[in-house]
Amino acid sequence: MNKEVLSIVIPAYNEEGNIERTTRVLSGLMESEKINYAIYYVDDGSKDKTWEQIEAIARENKRVKGIHFSRNFGKEAAMFAGLEMVAGDCAVVMDCDLQHPAETVIKMYHMWELGFEVVEGVKLDRGKESALHKFAVKVFYKLMSDSTKIDMSKASDFKLMDRKVIDALVSLPERNTFFRALSSWVGFKTTTVGFYVAEREIGTSKWNLGSLIRYAINNITSFTTKPLHLVFFMGGLYLILALIQGIECLVTYLSHNAVEGFTTVILIQLITGSIVMLSLGIIGTYIAKIYEEVKNRHRYIVSKTVNIASKRNDK
Ligand code: UDP
Ligand code: MG
Repeated sequence: MNKEVLSIVIPAYNEEGNIERTTRVLSGLMESEKINYAIYYVDDGSKDKTWEQIEAIARENKRVKGIHFSRNFGKEAAMFAGLEMVAGDCAVVMDCDLQHPAETVIKMYHMWELGFEVVEGVKLDRGKESALHKFAVKVFYKLMSDSTKIDMSKASDFKLMDRKVIDALVSLPERNTFFRALSSWVGFKTTTVGFYVAEREIGTSKWNLGSLIRYAINNITSFTTKPLHLVFFMGGLYLILALIQGIECLVTYLSHNAVEGFTTVILIQLITGSIVMLSLGIIGTYIAKIYEEVKNRHRYIVSKTVNIASKRNDK
């Protein structure tokens, strides 16, 4: 087998129906394009037969490799685990359900051959999503784009990276990662390739409203301190209001009309209370982050692998 050039990292969580098909589509395409590839499935602690499927396919095809997490660590951890294992000169990260079209991988590969170090998949549409979902996504990306100065409204986890970029990414020390933003943050010569989000044909989406909200909060607090600045802003605003109120109080006092003001007291109490609580909430979120980073815990734990020359067992 020739040296692996293109490594394909595929996080998979409860994807038993997709492994066989995805492998078939990808390997067929790679072989017809004569690309030396390897597929790295990262089984993110699936509860179904995903791992058995990966093992069975890996036994027949040495180009298919598997990494199995001891439990569900999330897609971010799975993508990074894959990137840490790959041996190729470049690597693509894509979804298991072929919503990221396999043909686009070929396009990305050709861009890489032209000398680009990062080829980002850019969604030309978002596929089938509910109106509420679309709205939430919009708000989330507006926030992220504003604070990171990287336009992420069309960004996806579908990306090809050169070896240099992979090494830069996996050497980052942080535990709470946001791949989509980090892969832009590291820089390098970047281009984009548009793709239409295909519909998921097998299985269901692994996200629900709760997990999406958690994902958004987690990513915002991992990547930006903007909410922290919001606290200062609110503090400043409060100070101005308090000053106006204070002057008004003084004036009433000096003009000997100082009995009224019950509503004012209530108002002040409400405003103070809410601002203090909100600020504490935000600060608390960050303290939680610092706490997690300081613990320096493994980003994931691998329980078994297939077709991978034993590196480290965990990271
Ligand atoms: N995924 C994962 N861990 C998780 C959730 C999802 O590795 O905890 C994988 C999943 O197997 C798929 C990709 O992430 O390959 C995208 O998931 P999904 O298709 O459910 O998301 P959507 O396309 O709806 O955004
Ligand atoms: Mg999907």
